[in-house]
Amino acid sequence: LAGGRTDVLGVGFGPSNLALAIAAREREEAGLSVPEISFVDGKPKFAWQPGMLLPGARMQSCFLEDLVTYRDPSSRYSFLMYLHAKGRLYEYVNLRHFYPTRSEFNDYLEWASAQVADRVRYGVSVLAVEPDWSSGIIDAFRVVMRANRTGAVTEERYGSIVLASGGAPRTPDNVAASSGRRRIIHSHYFLEQFPDRFIDRNAPYRFLVVGAGQSAAEILFYLHRQYPKATISGVLRNFSFRPMDDTCFFNEIFHPARVDFIYDFPHESRSLLETAYHRGNYASVSPDLITALYQALYEDRVAGVARVQLLAFSEVLEMREESAVVEARLRDLASTQTRTESYDAVLLCTGYRRNTPHPLLESLAPYLRLNDTGGYDMTRRYRVRTTDAMTARVYLQGWSELSHGLGDSLLPVLPVRSAEILDALSEKVTATDQRGERPLAFTDRSVVRVG
Ligand SMILES: Cc1cc2nc3c(=O)[nH]c(=O)nc-3n(C[C@H](O)[C@H](O)[C@H](O)COP(=O)(O)OP(=O)(O)OC[C@H]3O[C@@H](n4cnc5c(N)ncnc54)[C@H](O)[C@@H]3O)c2cc1C
Repeated sequence: LAGGRTDVLGVGFGPSNLALAIAAREREEAGLSVPEISFVDGKPKFAWQPGMLLPGARMQSCFLEDLVTYRDPSSRYSFLMYLHAKGRLYEYVNLRHFYPTRSEFNDYLEWASAQVADRVRYGVSVLAVEPDWSSGIIDAFRVVMRANRTGAVTEERYGSIVLASGGAPRTPDNVAASSGRRRIIHSHYFLEQFPDRFIDRNAPYRFLVVGAGQSAAEILFYLHRQYPKATISGVLRNFSFRPMDDTCFFNEIFHPARVDFIYDFPHESRSLLETAYHRGNYASVSPDLITALYQALYEDRVAGVARVQLLAFSEVLEMREESAVVEARLRDLASTQTRTESYDAVLLCTGYRRNTPHPLLESLAPYLRLNDTGGYDMTRRYRVRTTDAMTARVYLQGWSELSHGLGDSLLPVLPVRSAEILDALSEKVTATDQRGERPLAFTDRSVVRVG
């Protein structure tokens, strides 16, 4: 078993662990001591949500919600410094736009990742994190990883891991079982798989888009523009697309100082938070996109064309991929009647799931504590609480929405969270210490700090 290259391994190198790498680099640059940390990512090079880098698609967080600014507005890894380095600062400001395109933000993240490239190995997928019992307790992990180019599987030993793998694309149960799908494509893989399979832009394809969130609306819009002869149906469980709440008071829920407030929220009242969350990000669409989509469909009507159909109050009961089509059984929720339609492709915009146990942590399950909702029992600084048998540490990024807040899987939290994880990694935490950290069901709720 090879010793790890560093003390800590960051698994996955999307924005979350990139923010951590940069926070560590900044501390080093300031002459502070930091834990030795390196990263692996299964992708061959840095890319942020590449399957959905649709032309013109915009960020839902603003350009100042980058990897560093909420922690340190003078950081040289900010979006503004990126614009300056690329010679576009004036032009960007001249756009008078708060929300960059996702392609530009991806370019910013790539630029930032290049500055910490010495810490990352790309093309390396972690297959499992196993307990290392060699000293009688689990004070280290055996991390099993595969070099994707050669297929070689190796193991390395680390004292801590910071897992930031993102969620897994969610497919409805009745679809998940059929393997080798070519015509049923999740939005996560959209640009990687779809355009190459449907190359004739003028063909009268029939497409079905499942879902009512931002990805569904973006893909509908894309299909409408890119395939002018296609017929496109959208299945929505609700009456229409719902606008995302991006108003000032609601957005306070993403304030970095709210994490304490949410973490300390009385356990017995957490359903209040869940109700509040539902107004936020889920199954909702940016108002600008709703208007642009409506406008496009209106122009179709002016031209006497009706090739986009939104099936309100409907759901897909099952789907079967035949050789040349997908057969989908749809139910009208109002009349409860069902009908079967065939499509050339079905696009699943059905989101992501973050299961417990995390698939990479299954062997550690007996030693990782759960809270009473079945999720991991997390300390305030993102460590999973363990039984006394385990002193090696698992930190999770993006797995604690319920305990740490609605912003847990989003970008604005990254600058502060990465510093908090670094602080925690820098301290010696014993099994006793971690029991001393405040539990999820903390009752002495602090006053909301805004600003
Ligand atoms: C289309 C889309 C648009 C979005 N837009 C916004 C937005 O505008 N604003 C916002 O705040 N949030 C947005 N989000 C939310 C999104 O979750 C965050 O922007 C961000 O991607 C979270 O970063 P992450 O590093 O935690 O996860 P991810 O970005 O998902 O990165 C995870 C990384 O881990 C790697 N990985 C996974 N498993 C393994 C393994 N076993 N071994 C090695 N590597 C592995 C993956 O290759 C990937 O690079 C968007 C999400 C999507 C899907």
